[in-house]
Amino acid sequence: MNKNAQKIYLDYSASAPLRPEARDAMMEVLSLEGAALNASSIHTYGQQGRKIVERARDQVARLMGCDRNQITFTSGATESNNAVLRHFMEKFPEDKILISATEHPSILEFHKRYPDQVKLIPVDENGLVTPEALEQTCKEHGKISLVSVMLCNNESGIIQDIPALAEIAHKHGALFHCDATQIAGCLPIEELGADFVTISSHKLGGPQGAGALITKICGQEPVSQLGGGQEKGLRAGTENIAAIAGFGAALEATAKDMARNETLRRWRDDMESALKEISPEIIIHGENVKRCATISFFSLTSIKAQNMLMALDIEGICISNGSACSSGTVKPSAVLKAMGCSDDIASSALRVSMGWATQKSDIDTFLKVWENLIERQNRK
Ligand code: PMP
Repeated sequence: MNKNAQKIYLDYSASAPLRPEARDAMMEVLSLEGAALNASSIHTYGQQGRKIVERARDQVARLMGCDRNQITFTSGATESNNAVLRHFMEKFPEDKILISATEHPSILEFHKRYPDQVKLIPVDENGLVTPEALEQTCKEHGKISLVSVMLCNNESGIIQDIPALAEIAHKHGALFHCDATQIAGCLPIEELGADFVTISSHKLGGPQGAGALITKICGQEPVSQLGGGQEKGLRAGTENIAAIAGFGAALEATAKDMARNETLRRWRDDMESALKEISPEIIIHGENVKRCATISFFSLTSIKAQNMLMALDIEGICISNGSACSSGTVKPSAVLKAMGCSDDIASSALRVSMGWATQKSDIDTFLKVWENLIERQNRK
């Protein structure tokens, strides 16, 4: 038996486990013997590869409620986000780009590197970009080419009012980008009102290394990679057909699964009630605003996040602090700092995130282990 099967995995926001539908679709490509699929080749295998890529494009279009021609396959959300920001930086060097202060690092880094061109929109204490804050930031910075605000925060699960923010950006003559990686498919593209939408395969049960940029007809077409003209010249490079096949299959399965979110929301809410009973002083971030169903982000200042993560791991439970930092160390949550939280709160934050294979028993076991660990700590 796979020893990982013994673990309880509650870290879907970092990466969801591969859905069986995605594995099957990938295996069909990977188990081909004596030939390779290159979707640009004219021969039979090339045609077979092209068919797989285009089927995946249809599957992504169905979940996202967009036209298949709007989809450019990329290696993931980081690449899609980078492509949009770079495009506007290069094409409109005199104009400003506005991004929210709680964006994913694949956007936030642009502010750190190019602070004169990429400006921050502050969030309020609930993590929200208010229409007033966006209006004010637009007024402060003159001509704006692009506004970028994520749909659902990867640490807190807090959901922004994208349609309202996109309307304000458009009123100021800017285009609007939305990183919808965490909850792709929850709102059809038309309702979001964004001109560019980023999604990623591995947050939805597809493989890592695949994603897409969805572009509305708006006069701007970000190019991610120059080269052999694949993806209509917007993202050159031989397609990763197995990953794209898995991505498409995962999104089709996600579309069928949407109703389960309400069950997950109930389990999440019940879990938070139990956490509060165990430690009444616990802070549940975003508790009073719109949040996605699958994330719980909380701080208990009496614990050290790193110690708790390790103790839980020893007990077979995988959760995380807010961001999966590449160095593997726990840093104070930048999202919480942007929301005005103290260092103590920001560095004790932990995230439980659920998804397609989560069972109620996973949450129950987590709670039992959590309660024991807290009791043990309180006895010290
Ligand atoms: N944006 C958000 C909101 C994310 O959660 C992530 C993954 N942590 C990314 C972008 C980057 O995605 P990828 O791993 O596909 O590059």
